Amino acid sequence: MIKITKKEDCCGCASCVNICPKQCIHMEMDSEGFLYPVVEKSACVDCGLCEKACPVIKEQESRQKEQESRQKEQGNSSKVPESHLKEQENVKKLVSAYPKTYAAKNKDKEIVRTSSSGGIFTLLAKMVLEEKGVVFGAVMTEDCRQVVHIAVEDPKELYRLRGSKYVQSHIGDCYRKAKEYLAQGRKVLFTGTPCQIEGLKAYLGRGEENLFTMDIICHGVPSEKVWQQYVKEQEKEAGAAVQEISFRNKDNSWKKYEIVFSFSNGETYRKNFEEDLYMRAFLQDICLRPSCYACKFKNANRVSDVTVADFWGCENILPHMDDDTGTSLLMIHSKKGENLLEAIRKDILIEEVDYQVVPQTNPSMERSARPHRDRSKFFEDLGRISFKELVEKLAKPGFSVKRSLVKLLKITGIWKMLKG
Ligand SMILES: Cc1cc2nc3c(=O)[nH]c(=O)nc-3n(C[C@H](O)[C@H](O)[C@H](O)COP(=O)(O)OP(=O)(O)OC[C@H]3O[C@@H](n4cnc5c(N)ncnc54)[C@H](O)[C@@H]3O)c2cc1C
Ligand code: SF4
Ligand code: SF4
Ligand code: SF4
Repeated sequence: MIKITKKEDCCGCASCVNICPKQCIHMEMDSEGFLYPVVEKSACVDCGLCEKACPVIKEQESRQKEQESRQKEQGNSSKVPESHLKEQENVKKLVSAYPKTYAAKNKDKEIVRTSSSGGIFTLLAKMVLEEKGVVFGAVMTEDCRQVVHIAVEDPKELYRLRGSKYVQSHIGDCYRKAKEYLAQGRKVLFTGTPCQIEGLKAYLGRGEENLFTMDIICHGVPSEKVWQQYVKEQEKEAGAAVQEISFRNKDNSWKKYEIVFSFSNGETYRKNFEEDLYMRAFLQDICLRPSCYACKFKNANRVSDVTVADFWGCENILPHMDDDTGTSLLMIHSKKGENLLEAIRKDILIEEVDYQVVPQTNPSMERSARPHRDRSKFFEDLGRISFKELVEKLAKPGFSVKRSLVKLLKITGIWKMLKG
């Protein structure tokens, strides 16, 4: 039976909830506003399926197995035949091989405008829908309070999935639904954070020919409680209900994107991501889920077929691919991923880049965020004082710049010299 002893060991994917044959697990919100599974013990039959479907437990087990086999290998190294050693070397090379990586951009300018980066998601989704498939992804609820995963079968609904929503999305029963569609022989494109794709794969437990998966480079996710407090205060200030939100409005610039709220009284709130207090809290890592500071799923090699992200730094590496409307990074992890790329190639501008540019320009590909030093204080005071006061008090502007500078000085050894 699932037992959460350390919060960082649960990413909230709800795979355990989806698989439980007795339906005796539900997700419950903790004091910070993140969802965790709770088991109704009297109904549990101890079948162990929830543990088998947990991507975090799976990852820990495979890491332990790898460690044991490495220790065994070292202990028995004199007895291993040379052919076997060569084979092991080849496997290692394959595992450490980096994914083929591209700068890519949808040729449809309107789709690029309404997408967070280069609009690659929409092309993949359209292709699957054209083949009578189903696309899963995250949408904002009508009251703008929650982000939830849904299934879409009608291309007219795709606009709801488009664009990043910087709040953790509820998976609900989407893994179960995806399994049902696959059983009917339909194609499924499942999109989400790396942990949500790992959760789905662990839930399904075997390869599915008709399943295609797309994950993102993921900085981390704030809680719904944090988001809701911000929305409540924005509505109070505007004196009207919020009707629509764009976290990544690119009307003026992709690199200097803005967060935009549209209210029922016709008013609009629009702020650059560096000035908006919610985005400041998010980007300073003060309000992320505990698992995001120790993310098990940030790797060059993913279980997804493709990974998409923003190609930050594109203007320096491939200036001709950057017009400040948004360019994607696209990484291919499987044969299915290669086929997806071939199917959309005619609709995109594309150029191959060295994988090494990814961790350099987008560290979240491989590295977890570091908790802000005042993260605990932030959650202690959340709801006690206004969100705006809280962020102004604890997440000072420029904090992340200062942190990066100190890190750079430490790496170069200058920090030690300065400290005497
Ligand atoms: C929480 C979060 C953190 C991110 N962190 C980074 C980062 O550090 N670096 C980086 O380069 N890119 C990051 N991205 C991804 C990036 O912003 C774009 O979403 C991505 O490049 C896809 O862009 P697109 O133009 O192809 O399509 P878009 O139409 O912009 O992408 C929409 C896709 O994002 C998914 N999605 C949106 N919100 C969520 C959510 N809350 N949970 C799960 N899936 C969601 C949708 O299901 C859909 O598949 C992040 C996205 C999110 C949601
Ligand atoms: S052990 Fe089986 S019955 Fe019990 S909570 Fe887990 S999946 Fe459900
Ligand atoms: S990581 Fe997912 S499967 Fe594992 S306990 Fe948490 S919600 Fe359940
Ligand atoms: S940082 Fe890791 S744990 Fe957090 S949402 Fe992203 S993939 Fe999941």
